[in-house]
Amino acid sequence: MKYFPIYLDTGDLRILVVGGGETALQKLRLLSKTEATIVVVAESFDEEIQKLAQPSGNGNSLAAIELITRPFDASDVIGKGLVYAASDNEGLDLRVVKAAKAAGVLVNYVDTPEHCDFITPSLVERDPITVAIGTEGTAPLLAREIKALLDRQLPANFGELGKQAKRIRNLVKSRITSGKGRLRVWERLMQGAFRRAVLAGDSSGADLALEAEIMAELEGKETEKGSVALIGAGPGNPELLTLKAHQKLQEADVLVIDRLVNPQVLDYARRDAKRIYVGKQAGKPSTSQEEINQTIVREALGGARVVRVKGGDPNIFGRIQEELSACQLFGIEVEVVPGISAAQAASASIKLPLTARGEHRSITLLTAATRDKVIPSDVADFLKSGRPFAIYMGVKLAADISETLEKSGADMSTEVIIVENASQKEERIISTNLRDLPLSVKSMKINGPAIMFVGLSYEEMGLTADPRIETMELNNVISLTRRAI
Ligand code: SAH
Repeated sequence: MKYFPIYLDTGDLRILVVGGGETALQKLRLLSKTEATIVVVAESFDEEIQKLAQPSGNGNSLAAIELITRPFDASDVIGKGLVYAASDNEGLDLRVVKAAKAAGVLVNYVDTPEHCDFITPSLVERDPITVAIGTEGTAPLLAREIKALLDRQLPANFGELGKQAKRIRNLVKSRITSGKGRLRVWERLMQGAFRRAVLAGDSSGADLALEAEIMAELEGKETEKGSVALIGAGPGNPELLTLKAHQKLQEADVLVIDRLVNPQVLDYARRDAKRIYVGKQAGKPSTSQEEINQTIVREALGGARVVRVKGGDPNIFGRIQEELSACQLFGIEVEVVPGISAAQAASASIKLPLTARGEHRSITLLTAATRDKVIPSDVADFLKSGRPFAIYMGVKLAADISETLEKSGADMSTEVIIVENASQKEERIISTNLRDLPLSVKSMKINGPAIMFVGLSYEEMGLTADPRIETMELNNVISLTRRAI
C-alpha cells in the first residue's frame, strides 16, 4: 500500500487552491462540501467559481471560500494544511508544488501523481457516510466500476441511518448499560425495523422501533419477531367463522379487535389472550388508523402473535392496506385470512342470490362512507343496465343515497332490500324502494349493521320472497309524511 487512506477533520483545516479555471472549479466543488476554510488564489476567476464562493452559491456548501485575485506567492502556502496546484499552467503549478514541499505542507498537483503527496479518492457520498475508493492511480476505470456498484446498492438516503445513529447514541448508551447488550441493540437497530423506518422517512415508526428494541433488550426477551394475522370474523354468527380464522383465534397472544365485531365470535379465542379494542364506538372518539397500525406493530415487534379481528371479510371495506403496509415496513410476517362478507351472508340468509344466470352477471359492492360523496352518481346507469349493487355502511346516509340516485335519473320505484344483522339472531329483512328508503330506515328503526341490495328482486329471479320480510306499514309512512309536511 503506497497510499494510505485516512479521513481528515476539516473543521479547523485551511486549504489553498491555486487556479481560477475548470480544474480548480472541479476541486472546489468537492472541497466545498467539507467544513474547511478554502483560500483560492488566481489572477482571475471563472464565473462558476465566483458563484460557488458566494455564501449561498452552492446548496450543499459548508466550507468558507475566499477568493484572492492576484498572482500566487510562495508565502500563500504558509499556515495551510493542504495545497492544490490546479492552475492548468505547468510552470505555476510546479512553483506551487515547490513552495508547499519547502514549507512541509501536503500538496496535490492535479492529475500529476509523481508530484503529489496525496491523491483524492473516488467517493460514494451518503453524508455522513462516505466510501473512498482508490486504485493508486493504476486503473481509474475500476474505481468507477466500484462506485457505480455501491451507488446502486446503497439507498440514496443511506446517510440518514448515520445521522439517526448519532442522534440516538446517547440515549442507547444511557438505557443499556452493558457493552454486549448495546452491541446487540445496535445490530438490531441497523438491520431491522428501525432501519426500514428511517429509510422510509417514517420518524414516528423509527421511534417506535427504537423503543421496542430497547425494551426487548431490557426485558431479555427473545428478539424473534411475532407475527400478524388479519382475519375476517365473518358477519357475526360464529358458525360462519372459517376453520382457519378459528385456529388463528386459538393461537393468538394478542387480539386487536374492531368494536363492531360480534362478541360471540370472540368466545372462540384463547381465554388468556390480551384483548385490545379499536375502531369506532358510539359517543367515544374512534381510534385512528395510525394508532391501530402502531398497536399492531408494537405488539408484533414485542414477539406476540397478533390477530387483528375484522368483521366480514378483511379485504372488503376493511382498510387493511394500511395495516399490511405497516407490517411490511417492519418486516413482520403477515397473513390474511378471508371471511364471509356481509353481502354474502345476507344473500345466503335471505335466499336471494347475488348473481343469477341470464339475469345478473355482476354485482357491485359499494360503500356509502366515502369522504367526498355518498355514492357515485353513475350507479343510476348501473340500474338502467340491470346491474344490481350492494351498499355497505349506508343506512345512516339513506336520505343522501336516495337523493343522489333521484338526481341522476334512477327509477325510484327500484326495489331495495335491507338486511340488518345478517346471520345473527336479530336478523331483519326489510323491503322498500329507492323513493321510500329514508322513511323506511327511520320508521323501521334500523340501528344494527345493515346492508342494502338495490336492484335485486325475488320476483325478477322467479323466487319466493323470504317470509320474514317486513314492508313498511303504509299508515306509518303516511303519518311520518304528514309530520314532515
Ligand atoms: N369487512 C366487512 C365490512 C366492513 S364495513 C365485510 O366484509 O362485511 C361495515 C359495514 O358492513 C356495516 O356498516 C354494514 O353495512 C355491513 N355489515 C357488517 N356486518 C353486517 C351484518 N351482520 N349484517 C348486515 N350488514 C353488515
